[in-house]
Amino acid sequence: MSSEKLEECLGVPTERLEFRAQEETSVSDVDPPAEHAEEAIESLVDLIVSMEATSPDVVRGIRIHKLLRHAPWYWWQGQLREMHQFSERVLQIDEFWSHSWRLAAWTKYLNALFLNNAWPACVVSLVCSGIAFALFLMGCLPEWTLGPFRCSWCSFSGMAAYFLTLFLCRRRVRAFVDIACINQKEPVKKLEGLISLGAILKKSKRLLVLYDSTFTTRLWCLFELGGYLYSRGTPGPASAEPEIRICPPLLGPMLLGVQALLVLSLLLLHMGKALLQYQLVVLPCLALIATPLAHGMRAYWRGIDAMQQQVARFSFAKASCDCCTRGHPGGRSCDRVILAKSITAWFGSIEAFEANVQTEVRMALVRQLTNEAFTYDRLVQAAVPLLWMQLDVSASHSGDWTVWTRWVELSRAATHVFAICPSWLKLLCFVTLKLRAQNCRVPMDIVMSLVIVVLGSAIYLGCSTLEEYLVWFLIPTQPYGPVFGSVISVSTFSVIALVAWRCLPEFR
Ligand SMILES: [Zn+2]
Repeated sequence: MSSEKLEECLGVPTERLEFRAQEETSVSDVDPPAEHAEEAIESLVDLIVSMEATSPDVVRGIRIHKLLRHAPWYWWQGQLREMHQFSERVLQIDEFWSHSWRLAAWTKYLNALFLNNAWPACVVSLVCSGIAFALFLMGCLPEWTLGPFRCSWCSFSGMAAYFLTLFLCRRRVRAFVDIACINQKEPVKKLEGLISLGAILKKSKRLLVLYDSTFTTRLWCLFELGGYLYSRGTPGPASAEPEIRICPPLLGPMLLGVQALLVLSLLLLHMGKALLQYQLVVLPCLALIATPLAHGMRAYWRGIDAMQQQVARFSFAKASCDCCTRGHPGGRSCDRVILAKSITAWFGSIEAFEANVQTEVRMALVRQLTNEAFTYDRLVQAAVPLLWMQLDVSASHSGDWTVWTRWVELSRAATHVFAICPSWLKLLCFVTLKLRAQNCRVPMDIVMSLVIVVLGSAIYLGCSTLEEYLVWFLIPTQPYGPVFGSVISVSTFSVIALVAWRCLPEFR
């Protein structure tokens, strides 16, 4: 297995610019090499600045489902450049992916999976879980004997549907992803793709920034951002408000991690007979597993601090470029020269571009990486496994007042998934933000993350106990007591959730 690090690199030997030189009859063989190179660079800059593609074939996109299905295999084989066969020529691109090659491939994959497939997976899993619920009540499915509940079909069908949809969903969104959409095997085609980036950005509806701490230090990433912003200001069919989505590196891994933890706890719950044993043994184990998640969140907030300082001091001259790192082998031209000329043509001067990055881009980054990253709907998605479980609990009831009790259990599920969980996760985001400072001693730092998990577990346990009390014990008369209790519980926690989402100050 080898990981490919193919940073974009324009700097090619001047003989590779022949496809352009052939068009220009004035470029003769008697030109001195240095002059020829200078002229070729100017031609390149003209092409980039004009935002025109060298040929329609270089404007390409790849269907997200093809990318998600094939990329892991080719990455494993060390042949990511073979992904080009799955891209297709397009007139318009739904999403341009801008990312640093320094960002780990697995985080990009999990983020793409979460951003594109998690929502459909939640919907399909709930439909399947609901069907299992109905089939069990109709007597079409046998009783489950290994766990504490008579019905476990809702959880298992929800899990199966969720993961199958997550990995196999056929999203038809077409994205521009450099490794697949720029021909990496043929140098001339690769160069054509790179100098047509302006045209590709102009034809992209939105820009997805797969952010990491190196993003604002990479010249090509900033060039893509600058090109996209400029393209929105130019007249033409693509001219529109810039739509930039910035995805934090740990968004997908974190929220899929929370879901994986819930799924694991569901599996253990349905396999273990004794509920008490489950609560005493399994839940502390899960708390231990959750510690790296809390640790990661604290590191995430520190990363945003570092990014703010970095971007506030952003300087084009200091941004790094792979060609310079490699020392321009074979007399290659420097990308920095070409990109500086292009950016000057777009923004008037390098200083104007730097000012734009230091103010508007920085504010957009901070806003999207903090308050717009962990939105209500994303936190609800993370809690969906609880709905599957509560459907099982509801279906497992028998005896007196069964119908009422089932409704009560379903309303409890809604309280947990739509009110308690998202508010609790938002609160945990705040706690990790406030306690993000790194302790110089690693064991103490890990203990701090563990304390957050213990604190978080205690808060959740407190909310669950209160919820249980309001539903079952506040008004003990059967069957209407729990029904009224559940109404009081839903109202109480909805108000708490509303207060949490409205009144908690913004992340700063
Ligand atoms: Zn260079």
